[in-house]
Amino acid sequence: MNPQAILSLRGLRKSFGEADIIRGVDLELIAGECHALIGPNGAGKSTLFHLISGRLPLTRGEILLDGEPIHGLSPQQINRRGLARSFQITNIFAGLSVFENLRLAVMRRYGLQYTLWCFAHRVRAVREEVMHLIEQVRLVPRAQAIAGELSYSEQRSLEIAMTLASDPKVIMLDEPMAGMSQEESDYIAGLIRDISRGRTLMIVEHDMDVVFSLSDRISVLVYGEIIATGTPDEIRNNARVKEAYLGEEVAI
Ligand code: ADP
Ligand code: MG
Repeated sequence: MNPQAILSLRGLRKSFGEADIIRGVDLELIAGECHALIGPNGAGKSTLFHLISGRLPLTRGEILLDGEPIHGLSPQQINRRGLARSFQITNIFAGLSVFENLRLAVMRRYGLQYTLWCFAHRVRAVREEVMHLIEQVRLVPRAQAIAGELSYSEQRSLEIAMTLASDPKVIMLDEPMAGMSQEESDYIAGLIRDISRGRTLMIVEHDMDVVFSLSDRISVLVYGEIIATGTPDEIRNNARVKEAYLGEEVAI
C-alpha cells in the first residue's frame, strides 16, 4: 500500500442483478492530489462514487479512508469520517443567509463541546472561519443574501463552502458543472481550482479542458474497469485510452 494513500479502493465490484457494473477497481488517491475519473457515459463513474460514499453497498472489495475500512458504514458515518460528497448531501437552509448556513456548518464540526469560559473565543473563531470560507468561494458580496435567492452558480459556490466547512479528508465532486452555462462553468472550474490547493479531490467531469488542466492524475473507467491511471500527459498519450475512449481523431 502506498503510505501516502488517503483513499484506497481494493478489488471493488458492484453488480445490479446479473449486470456487473464495477468489475474490479483498484485505485489509490494520494493526499493532496486532484484526481479526475473520466470515461464514457454508463462506464460506472457515478456508481463508483455511490460505493465510496456509502450510498450503494459493495458486492465485493474494500474501501479504506486514511487506512480505516469504511465499506459497510452509512453515508452519514462515512461523511463523519471525513469523506465529503458535494452536491448530493446538502444541508442548505433556503431561508437562512449564506453566512448563517455556513455558521451552522462550522458549528456542527466544532460539535457541542462548548465550555462557558471559552464561548466568546469560540464565537469569534467560528465567525472568522465562516468569513474565510465565504472569501474562498468568492461570495463576500453575497454573505448576507438568503440562500434560496442565490443564482445557480452562487448556490453551487455555497454548496462547495458547506463541504469545505466540515474540513474533509477527501472531497468528491460528481459533474459539478452539469447543467451550467459556459460562463457559470468557467466560474465553478476556477473555484474548484482554488479550493483544490492543499486538499484531496476526486472529480468526475465531462469537460476535458477542465479535466486536463485541473488534475494531477486521471483515471479512465471503461465498462467498470480502470484501463489507465496517470498524469494528464500520460493519459493523453496512452494508446489504450485513445482507442477505448478518447478516439484516435480527438486531439487533446
Ligand atoms: P456513469 O456515471 O459513468 O455515466 P453510471 O454509474 O451512472 O455511469 O451507470 C453505469 C451503469 O450502471 C449503467 O449501465 C446504468 O444503467 C447502470 N446502473 C446504475 N445504477 C443502477 C441501478 N441502481 N440499477 C441497475 N443498473 C444501474
Ligand atoms: Mg454519472
